[in-house]
Amino acid sequence: MTRRRFEDKVVIVTGASTGLGPILSRMLVEEGAKVLMAARRVELVEAEAASIGGNAVAVQADVTSEADVAAMVDAAMDRWGQVDVLMNNAAVPGKDLYIWEQTLENWNATFAVDVTAAMLCSREVLRRSMMERKTGAIVNFSSTAGWNGLPRKSHYSAAKGSLRILTKVIATEVGPYGIRCNCLVPGAIETQIMADWLQRTADEKGLPLEQWREEWFSNIPLKAKISTAQDVANAALFLASDEARTITGQSINVDAGGVMVG
Ligand code: NAD
Repeated sequence: MTRRRFEDKVVIVTGASTGLGPILSRMLVEEGAKVLMAARRVELVEAEAASIGGNAVAVQADVTSEADVAAMVDAAMDRWGQVDVLMNNAAVPGKDLYIWEQTLENWNATFAVDVTAAMLCSREVLRRSMMERKTGAIVNFSSTAGWNGLPRKSHYSAAKGSLRILTKVIATEVGPYGIRCNCLVPGAIETQIMADWLQRTADEKGLPLEQWREEWFSNIPLKAKISTAQDVANAALFLASDEARTITGQSINVDAGGVMVG
């Protein structure tokens, strides 16, 4: 029997049009949530929301825009009158550039989505609903790149590392209001973005994809078990649910043990 941990809860999922976003949204709706799926590409997110049906509603929002973020939270408040959970899932990987090639444009564009937008979205749901109601949960989506760093990804690694510290500060500040904030830290997930990256780096190395894939995953303790989007979503739903009611300020790795061995 499906659990109903989110009955009567209102959840905002950002970056909800591709990858993990639609999967998170579907699982939340199945557990009783009313889900506002926010994304830049409105046709895409509308199609995803329609395929989920029930209480999944699409809204256009570029989370780097203060006005869009305010309108996104307004949309949830107008429709349902509250926000219980925010999933700061939206992110961009930026371009693959060594530090000596880094551009301010690439750096700032990555930080704008991967850190600043999480601050903006959190600020708005806290101000407009959670603080007054003295309840709520925020889940940020970091990456193991934010622990050990990835070559040619200084922008992404630094942004994802910052998100863990932002999580702690938010958790400390809003804890007295009964609100929690945690950070999910995925390693590689079997999504399109990962498949594209593996293909690109295999091509650059002149290696067959399967050989490079095996090499890349050879250090991961749970070798045969690379996380699916569902594995990551399971952990996100747990952190957002009342089952995690005394867990806050934490960064939880879902990475088949990869970060443990460096
Ligand atoms: P994804 O690229 O499919 O999803 C991210 C979504 O955010 C995209 O739909 C993108 O369009 C959206 N987005 C980007 N900029 C936006 C903006 N300004 N406004 C609104 N939406 C915007 O990636 P995913 O694989 O589903 O990743 C989900 C989360 O997990 C991300 O935070 C990602 O960094 C993290 N993560 C993924 C992996 C992986 O292997 N896929 C690994 C570690 C961490």
